[in-house]
Amino acid sequence: MWPPWICSWILARFISIWPTNAVTSWPCAECGVASKPYDHQRERQWRHLDTCQYRTILHAEPPRSQCPTHGVRVVKLPWAEPSSRFTALFEGLAISWLKTASQKAVAEQLGLSWDEIHAIMDRAVQRGLKRRQAEPIPRLGVDEKAFRKGQKYLTIVNDLTRKRVLYVAEDRKQASLDSFWQTLTEPQLKGIEAVAMDMWDPYVDSVRAHVKDADEKIVFDKFHVAQHLSQAVDGVRRKENKELRAKGDDRLVGTRYDWLQNPTNMDAEDRREFAALRDSELKTARAWALKETAMGLYSYTYEGPARKYFQRWHNWAVRSRLAPMKEVAGMLKRRFDNIITYLKHRITNAASESINSKIQWVKYTARGFRTKQNFINAIYFHCGGLDLAPAATK
Ligand SMILES: [Zn+2]
Repeated sequence: MWPPWICSWILARFISIWPTNAVTSWPCAECGVASKPYDHQRERQWRHLDTCQYRTILHAEPPRSQCPTHGVRVVKLPWAEPSSRFTALFEGLAISWLKTASQKAVAEQLGLSWDEIHAIMDRAVQRGLKRRQAEPIPRLGVDEKAFRKGQKYLTIVNDLTRKRVLYVAEDRKQASLDSFWQTLTEPQLKGIEAVAMDMWDPYVDSVRAHVKDADEKIVFDKFHVAQHLSQAVDGVRRKENKELRAKGDDRLVGTRYDWLQNPTNMDAEDRREFAALRDSELKTARAWALKETAMGLYSYTYEGPARKYFQRWHNWAVRSRLAPMKEVAGMLKRRFDNIITYLKHRITNAASESINSKIQWVKYTARGFRTKQNFINAIYFHCGGLDLAPAATK
C-alpha cells in the first residue's frame, strides 16, 4: 500500500506543473478585468475527497494579480471557494451528507471539528441566500420559535406557497420582523397578498408599517384562535374542578386532555364517558360548547353571515357567566377584523407545520449548536430551500 503522503505529493506535483510562468495576465477575482501577475501566496492546503481511502491534501501557492481598480488580489481558484480550507468537491460531499445526517455523525465520519462543520454550513447558507431570486411571495406566515426552552425567541418568516423559510431574526419584537421587509424587492413587497400570524402586536405593527393595506392582509392564525379558546375552557375546568372536589365530586379529575382533543380521536369507551360529561350541566361543558361553536365560524364562505354568526356567539359568551370565556370573547371581538380575513385568504400557519417539524429535527440533530447563529444557519440550511452547493462543483 502507498503511504498517505504519496497522494498528497502527486497532487502537489500536479499543481506545480501549472504553467504559471507562461501566464501574462489573470482575471481580477473582484471584477474579472485582465490584470498583471503580481506574486504567489505562500503554500496553502485544501482537504480534498479521499483517494483510495487515504486522506488527500491539495497543496498550492495561489497566484495573486494586480488589478488597476482593486489592487493585489488572490485569483479565483477553480477548486475551492475563497477562504475555505476544503476543495469544493469535498465541501459538496459534506453538504450533501449534512442534509440527511446529524452534524455529529458527519463530523465523525469525515473527521471534521464542530467549527469546521459550522463553517461549511455557514458558507453554504451565504451562497444559497446570495443565489436566491426575487420570486413573488404572495402568502407569508410569521411564527416564533423558542431557541432553548424558556429562552429567547426567534422570529421565522415562511413562504407558505413554496413551504420554505425565507427569513430568521432574533427575538420577536417589531424590529425583528422589520428587518425582513428590507430584504425584499419593491415588486415582492407589492405582491404580498396575505400574512398569517398569531395575535402578537409587534408583528401586526411591523406589517402595518411596511405592507400596503395591511389590515386586509393580516390573518390571525386559526389554530392560535383555537388555542386561546382551549385555554379559556381549561381555565373554567380548573376552577370548577376545585369547587367540585371540595364537595367530593371528582367527575372532572383527569379530564383536562379530553376537553382539548377532538372526540373523534378517542376510543369508543372514552368517547361515551366524554359524551356524558359534555352533555352534563357542568360549567366546563358549557365552556366547551362555546369553544366548539366559535370554531364554526371557519365553515362560512361569506363575510356577512359570518359576522352575524360571530355576533350571536359573542352575545352568548358574554352572558355565560364564565369569566375566562367572557374574556376570550372580548379579545376575539377586538381582533375580529383580522380573524375574518381568513374567509378571503384561507391561510393558516399549519402550512408552516411541515417546516416546524423540520426545525424540531434540526434542533434534535444539532445539540451542539452553542451559538444562536449556528442554529439560525441550520434553519436556513435545512428549511430555506436554498441552492447550497459550491459553485466549483457545478
Ligand atoms: Zn478588479
